Amino acid sequence: MSTSAATTYLNQGKTCCAALKLVLPGKVSYPDSTPYNLSLTSYWSVQEENVHPTCVVSATNTLDVALSVFLLTIGGQVFPGQCDFAVRSGGHTPFVGAANIQQGITIDLSALNQVTPSKDLSTVTVGPGNRWSQVYSKLDALGIAVGGGRVAIVGVGGLTLGGGVSFFSPRYGFVCDSIVRFEVVLAAGLTVNVTKSSYPDLWVALKGGSNNFGVVTAFESTAFKQGKFWGGFIGNDISTKDAQFAAFEALNGNPNYDEYAALINSYVYTPATNTWYIANNIEYTKAQANPPFFANFTSLPQTFSTMRISNLTDFTIELAASNPDGRRQLFVTGTYGNSARMMSNIFDIANSTVQALRDVPGIAYSLSFQPVPTVITSKAAARGGNSLGLSAADGNLFNLLLTVSWDTEADDALINTQAKALFDQFATVSKQLGLFNEYLYLNYAAPWQKPIAGYGAASVANLKAVSKKYDPKGVFQVQVPGGFKLSD
Ligand SMILES: Cc1cc2nc3c(=O)[nH]c(=O)nc-3n(C[C@H](O)[C@H](O)[C@H](O)COP(=O)(O)OP(=O)(O)OC[C@H]3O[C@@H](n4cnc5c(N)ncnc54)[C@H](O)[C@@H]3O)c2cc1C
Repeated sequence: MSTSAATTYLNQGKTCCAALKLVLPGKVSYPDSTPYNLSLTSYWSVQEENVHPTCVVSATNTLDVALSVFLLTIGGQVFPGQCDFAVRSGGHTPFVGAANIQQGITIDLSALNQVTPSKDLSTVTVGPGNRWSQVYSKLDALGIAVGGGRVAIVGVGGLTLGGGVSFFSPRYGFVCDSIVRFEVVLAAGLTVNVTKSSYPDLWVALKGGSNNFGVVTAFESTAFKQGKFWGGFIGNDISTKDAQFAAFEALNGNPNYDEYAALINSYVYTPATNTWYIANNIEYTKAQANPPFFANFTSLPQTFSTMRISNLTDFTIELAASNPDGRRQLFVTGTYGNSARMMSNIFDIANSTVQALRDVPGIAYSLSFQPVPTVITSKAAARGGNSLGLSAADGNLFNLLLTVSWDTEADDALINTQAKALFDQFATVSKQLGLFNEYLYLNYAAPWQKPIAGYGAASVANLKAVSKKYDPKGVFQVQVPGGFKLSD
């Protein structure tokens, strides 16, 4: 949709936008203005970029967020359905409406980009509007790090509230597991500091609860010493796939899992030749090249390698190069018990169906496997818990991410229908093999998946109870319709 066509949508939200403009002069923008267009064009996927809110609030501090939420909450009560809003940090969710809203108000947190280490460097307070490379470049200079995204351009807010997988997850768990304090604006506009002791129930709910409880305006994370380390990409021919699956299963199932090791094992389809190649993102977060833990991967014949010793910022910039913005995007995810056989089944099923997409203009298609060993899922318990519903009792798991990019809206239905059918088949096969796990990583989930239900009944019941307590009118359930809701 063109920006001028978008002005025709300037109806719902009009009154609340006008009120916000009075209270926050200079921070509320409308279609066809520079700040509005800058906000829209900074979403990762074209689908989110094409959503046109009635106005955008560019908050620059916590008070701006609190005033906005206060006004919108009241507005929503006086004019039901007229003051719906979206909350946006880095804008990297691929699907429509997760962090943007047609005919409503988008609160853009991009300018909340503080990175403040504590005096003793034991924690770092990070604003949700940061991209991870902004955080890491400051921390690299201090010789410390926090758990966070592996791709430079991804945002802090969504990644942390959905769980978060980092290069350091085997050492420290999910990114949310290291958060000691959230600064949160609740539905009525009240700002609270949420710690394990101040609001223990909300503290756990925010660790996986996404945008269901409030707007997080700061995350305080435990920091640790971190120098340069060994990492990069190794490419392999697809003929090595069976050896890769075996290497993955052995690594993920190793009872002495090396907690410095992180891996993304990807299979990338090349439509021009109807073939695949393999790209392994290997990171070993010590300054030690070729650790034995990766030997089953590094000993395979290589087509290319960028392995080197460098800093965290540099490795995340390298990963960003293979994830450009400005395209139509779909993420779909699944979780399965650690098994080379299951990986092989997934590859074969995808390989037998991907040809149907070969002629889709601009098609890019990849399968990424990531270990989720018990060394990751066991960390939450000692750190106060999270809401993801995973524990060491689930055994060693792997995460699957299907990423599809393409050019035109005309192919949306085909891509989504095919992906759904694919994951239905994966579910059937994994159930037959006794390897199905209901957990779905929220930050990789397609809009038609149900990641919160996948946390399990006990976690969902807790999340609903916390929502009732801190947001009794259900503002973040009803007035913030985007993303994954507790009732999904
Ligand atoms: C290129 C790329 C690389 C990625 N790499 C990784 C990775 O290494 N590790 C990993 O775990 N995930 C990764 N992801 C997935 C990523 O975690 C999600 O896309 C995540 O949503 C990004 O966060 P964001 O702030 O950019 O998202 P947004 O789209 O801005 O937000 C996502 C959701 O969270 C809500 N939200 C955002 N901020 C707040 C807030 N402050 N308060 C309340 N609600 C909020 C939004 O309303 C929205 O529903 C990657 C994604 C992409 C596209």
